[in-house]
Amino acid sequence: MMTETPSAPETLAAAPDHIRRPLPLGPLRALLGSEHVIESPEERAFYSTDVYRRADVDAELVLRPGDVEQLRTAVGLCTAHGRAVIPRGGGLSYTGGFLPTRAGSVVVDLLRLDRILDINPVDMHVTVEAGATWKSLHEALRPLGLRTPYFGPMSGFASTIGGALSQGSVFLGSTQYGTTADSVLGLDVVLADGSLLSTGSAGGRQSGPFFRNYGPDLTGLFLHDSGALGLKARASLRLLRAPAFSAYLTFTFDSAAALFAAMSEIGRSGLAAECYGSDPYIWGMRLWDDDLARDITRAIGVVKSGKNLVAGIKDAARMAVTGRSALKDVAFALNVALDGHSQGQIDHAQREIRAMAGAGREVEATVPRSVRATPFLPPNDILGPKGQRWAPSHGIVPHSRIAALADALQDFFHRRAAVLERHGIEWGFVAFAISHQAILLEPMLYWPGARTPYHERMIAPAHLAKLPVLEADPAADAAMRALRADLADFWAAAGCAHLQIGKTYHYLSTRHDGTRALLERLKNAVDPQHLVNPGSLGFR
Ligand SMILES: Cc1cc2nc3c(=O)[nH]c(=O)nc-3n(C[C@H](O)[C@H](O)[C@H](O)COP(=O)(O)OP(=O)(O)OC[C@H]3O[C@@H](n4cnc5c(N)ncnc54)[C@H](O)[C@@H]3O)c2cc1C
Repeated sequence: MMTETPSAPETLAAAPDHIRRPLPLGPLRALLGSEHVIESPEERAFYSTDVYRRADVDAELVLRPGDVEQLRTAVGLCTAHGRAVIPRGGGLSYTGGFLPTRAGSVVVDLLRLDRILDINPVDMHVTVEAGATWKSLHEALRPLGLRTPYFGPMSGFASTIGGALSQGSVFLGSTQYGTTADSVLGLDVVLADGSLLSTGSAGGRQSGPFFRNYGPDLTGLFLHDSGALGLKARASLRLLRAPAFSAYLTFTFDSAAALFAAMSEIGRSGLAAECYGSDPYIWGMRLWDDDLARDITRAIGVVKSGKNLVAGIKDAARMAVTGRSALKDVAFALNVALDGHSQGQIDHAQREIRAMAGAGREVEATVPRSVRATPFLPPNDILGPKGQRWAPSHGIVPHSRIAALADALQDFFHRRAAVLERHGIEWGFVAFAISHQAILLEPMLYWPGARTPYHERMIAPAHLAKLPVLEADPAADAAMRALRADLADFWAAAGCAHLQIGKTYHYLSTRHDGTRALLERLKNAVDPQHLVNPGSLGFR
């Protein structure tokens, strides 16, 4: 099976006739301003690199539209000149979703479309431009006592609403409320020809984004599409009253089987806002990073944000005293965050979850508490604590299949032990209970290799300065490419679902014939020349 949509480096001379036409640079500069029409080789290389790799062919141009009208006109101009257009949000993905696959590709950076357009506490929805970050949305809603059901990934400091809606995302609020898609009421999407499509109740004359399922769910068509069907310009999301009370629990277990049994029980119960686990390798990694001050700062953040101030101060003091010593010598760890509208509700949920944890030993809940205190930190973890390269992979299964999948994954790596040993590749897993139905299993891979200009730009300078600088290791890089390809095959053979399909996981090729045929027809209807993000989802 094909993976990572490999593309031989192409040159314009070898390109089809339609992209030998010069780009309409004059009109694009007049439209966006020269500073937002980017031709420099360094910038084109940056925009053609994600967390994991640089594309085989760099973007021909990068455009930074400042509003929806500019976005529409720029997309229409580029496609009329035979160029592929590739949406990019915060650029914090690792499955090639925004990487060019052919010469004549224009990356459209959406970060200037960052306005929060309407917060409606009467009808309980918010409308944002697609380039707004989760951090900025959270900060706009919090003073109003409001929240979206799913409220962001751990990359939300810099990743965007449009990126999460396009590749599918889980974290804050996801054990209770599901993925990003489950929070959406409607979208405005720019199609390949520059036309604008509105979905949900806002798609009709009685406009307003108050109801998603008025007729067939056109919104859903564009969610988790890895940007293959259009460029999201605006999104309307559901609002809820932010729960005033939260609590945190951490348990440790001696085996992965015990961890997953507890995770499934808690996930099914609907009592947890977030429920996530890790193996000893990932848990231990927190101890290598000896920055205890960060956790204490986060704990103080809890004190400031919590309603129950006295309890918060006690928590912070306890964290400062016990620090990481409480986390040492543990095996598999399970973290739970709970939300409620009264202390009584929280107390009840805590009692129930403690019972569900079964064989788990309760320890200080440093991790979930500090994550909630400062959920949106710079993406410093895109290099490992010893300066290694980092890239995750994942599969999603129902509760009944998670234990077998975790065993099979152990076996997968066991069979490759010699390769891992030879190249210094290390791995550990995290897992996340999504909604009440499924668990995501995510091995994280670390390998020796040189950091890229992408890492240098994305990691906070103070953190980067502390990390060792490693030499390039082409053999380890090649082993990683093979490993990721094998992993994509492994997940497909196990019948897993995926977020972040991008140009890495086997989507189109694993659909039933009828499903695939309809998907192809839908792609042809919205993008007849296949110029929107070629390669995403497996479309050519
Ligand atoms: C440190 C770190 C932590 C992370 N934590 C999480 C986590 O907790 N949960 C999680 O699910 N993921 C996580 N991720 C993965 C990733 O950051 C998120 O999934 C995030 O939502 C990506 O958003 P982005 O704006 O960076 O998208 P990009 O990387 O810019 O793009 C992702 C895909 O979406 C498409 N796209 C982007 N914007 C648009 C648009 N407006 N219209 C159409 N298509 C578009 C792109 O073409 C691409 O296919 C993490 C990544 C890192 C590096």
